[in-house]
Amino acid sequence: MSRGDEHSDGGNLVEAMRHYYLDKMGIQVWLANEQPIVQVEADRAENIETRWQQLEQAVTLCRKCQLHQSRTQTVFGVGNKDASLLVIGEAPGCDEDLQGEPFVGRAGQLLNAMLAAIGLQRQQVYIANILKCRPPNNRDPRPEEADACSPWLNQQIALIRPDVILALGRVAAHNLLKTDQSLAELRGRLHAYDGVPLVVSYHPAYLLRQPIAKRKSWQDLIKLKSLLSSGPIST
Ligand code: SF4
Repeated sequence: MSRGDEHSDGGNLVEAMRHYYLDKMGIQVWLANEQPIVQVEADRAENIETRWQQLEQAVTLCRKCQLHQSRTQTVFGVGNKDASLLVIGEAPGCDEDLQGEPFVGRAGQLLNAMLAAIGLQRQQVYIANILKCRPPNNRDPRPEEADACSPWLNQQIALIRPDVILALGRVAAHNLLKTDQSLAELRGRLHAYDGVPLVVSYHPAYLLRQPIAKRKSWQDLIKLKSLLSSGPIST
């Protein structure tokens, strides 16, 4: 051991004792050029909340595609901003356009029941759509509309950092996975969106029209539940 090491060890001991006594006195210890961990976490949370507010405001004012002309209001998304599961549907329908919330009405009630079947409450997940504005007469989103809207959803995904994405319906799956494969081909396989594991299943509105598909939907939900239970997943 060199003399320098001895001095260094002695200095460390003095510093450790100083921290010990300050701690006993109830005085918070600050390290040089650093903030206490709790302060760093508080700043990070405040920063994320600010980004959410800025994003929501930008979406509210968005006129990047023609759908802004016919909307009652934008439908930003709803739920737990720290969710493990992000549910993505197609676009707002009539009820969503009026209420400003995705997946309301009968399809929303069925989604709530599907989530409850795997032990999740609606408030525990985050729910959004490919489009933030309602297409007239509930027609399919056009490619240029989905492209214009995708940066908003991507920013939401970056802020939430979910463990798993559940894409509900053909439109959501096609836009997220950039494929035109059928839902039958896409179901039952694990996909990924920007590194986030992604499961494809039926849209609740389809299940209301085709209740026979609920059995297959249940299989998808079981897979989803096992993914959520298994922690971080490599894709
Ligand atoms: S659908 Fe998306 S891109 Fe088009 S106006 Fe609405 S928020 Fe903007």
